[in-house]
Amino acid sequence: MTKLNGHCLCKSVAFSVDTPTHLDSCHCDTCRRWNGGPYIGMDFSPITLTSDKTLKWYRSSDWAERGFCSACGSSLFYRLLDDPEKYSICVGALENAPHDLAMTKEFFIDQKPNFYAFEGERERLTGAEVFALYADDKDA
Ligand SMILES: [Zn+2]
Ligand SMILES: [Zn+2]
Repeated sequence: MTKLNGHCLCKSVAFSVDTPTHLDSCHCDTCRRWNGGPYIGMDFSPITLTSDKTLKWYRSSDWAERGFCSACGSSLFYRLLDDPEKYSICVGALENAPHDLAMTKEFFIDQKPNFYAFEGERERLTGAEVFALYADDKDA
């Protein structure tokens, strides 16, 4: 599988990862506060960190933490505490992410404000539906 490289704004955090097959998004209050907008990211994948000098983690809930660059402030990674080897990666951190990647799910649709929307049809889950979906499978 083709590898993609990624990095933060200042390039102090850099990584490579297999090219994703699709993206997902999240509209929850926490993601929007962290990103300054909706989260669009890759599914959980193992990654190779080639530079992590300024990578810091912030625990944003009882089950997950978010990785960011402490030098330039870029939002980069989301991972579950149960499965810290796999990262969901902010799509904006990738170099040359294919422009035709499909977005397959939108999470926390009930927390999305009305001033934006993603075009196209896909599965859209409320927060309650997300928690029900992953309650039995924290690795998903
Ligand atoms: Zn940086
Ligand atoms: Zn979220």
